Amino acid sequence: MIEITDIKVRVFRHKTRKHKDSAGHSHPGPLRDTTQAMITISASDGTQGHAFGAAEAMRPHVIENYVKTVYLRQNPFDRERLWHELAHWQRGSADQLTDRTLALADMALHDLIGRHLDMPVHKLLGGVRDRIPAYASTMCGDELEGGLATPEDYARYAEWLVQRGYKAIKLHTWMPPVSWAPNVKADLKACAAVREAVGPDMPLMLDAFHWYDRLSALELGRGLEKLGYYWFEEPMDEQSMSSYRWLASQLDIPVIGPESAGGKYFNRAEWIVSRACDVMRTGVIDVGGIGAAIKTASLAEAFGINCEVHSPGAGSLAVLGAIKNTTWYERGLLHPFIDYDEPPEYLNAIVDPLDDDGMVPLPCGPGLGEDINFDYIDDNLVSTQ
Ligand code: MG
Repeated sequence: MIEITDIKVRVFRHKTRKHKDSAGHSHPGPLRDTTQAMITISASDGTQGHAFGAAEAMRPHVIENYVKTVYLRQNPFDRERLWHELAHWQRGSADQLTDRTLALADMALHDLIGRHLDMPVHKLLGGVRDRIPAYASTMCGDELEGGLATPEDYARYAEWLVQRGYKAIKLHTWMPPVSWAPNVKADLKACAAVREAVGPDMPLMLDAFHWYDRLSALELGRGLEKLGYYWFEEPMDEQSMSSYRWLASQLDIPVIGPESAGGKYFNRAEWIVSRACDVMRTGVIDVGGIGAAIKTASLAEAFGINCEVHSPGAGSLAVLGAIKNTTWYERGLLHPFIDYDEPPEYLNAIVDPLDDDGMVPLPCGPGLGEDINFDYIDDNLVSTQ
């Protein structure tokens, strides 16, 4: 039997072209320094598991007082018990221990187990596919010349995405602090321009401003129905399940959710029985880990509902490789000024290359399948904890 002997967080410097606006959305800009963190869980046989995330989610207080308290000297194969014990600490942590931290610890634990057994995580969980179609997920609209500033910009970029091999596209349209956003009519103009550019058959999705009121969301949804859109995502505050129930009851286009609402799979069960969504949304980071995301998908499956996974990355691929009731991998966020295929300095290769059929092969390396440049990380350390 192996046991967990150490947990370390390395915060390191790297460069990015992504800049956050005042509402937290990423947009392209000049190359700048930023930091990233990697949590590493070590076992008594020398195996290590890793996961990447924001340093804020892996602060020393949180790792020392909660993650180490629960994980150290435990058998890493008891990950279900460890997940519940860590989740129970959330209540007493005064909101310091978030679902995001739970997810990062859970991902590193899955990576450790996979590396120990020399097996990809999705195969450990129960493999269902070896590759998955990707949809191109754009960044939010901006006011950059030649970027995503006009409906024509979106249309031109959609044509490029089709040439690149994508079989579906999801638009994120304009949100504040863009000076004139949000605007339902502008959203619909962009959606119409993209439909016109790619033809009638390509699945198109919209993820718009997340705080429209009910009537604006209904107007937007009805417009999308006329344009033959495939799903309608998070147009209102997800704290109001009643608003989504109201919206979904009036629209034919599938409403997908919730993505950002808390409550893990417990809250998602409520969305299903309340008929607040037609397609379930989950995400490794959003619901507290790989195991919790699989549970969300399973409960949706029991109701005959598809479950689509939020955001790209190794954790998402592990889930997508192990659940049947899903269709797409969210690849992005994409922008005409960003080369998504260029790996960040701390990885030797991206985990989600696009093949010639517009699909992403599931990583076949052990664990989560990330090809990590450990030398880069050690050479660019900001802190170790
Ligand atoms: Mg979304």
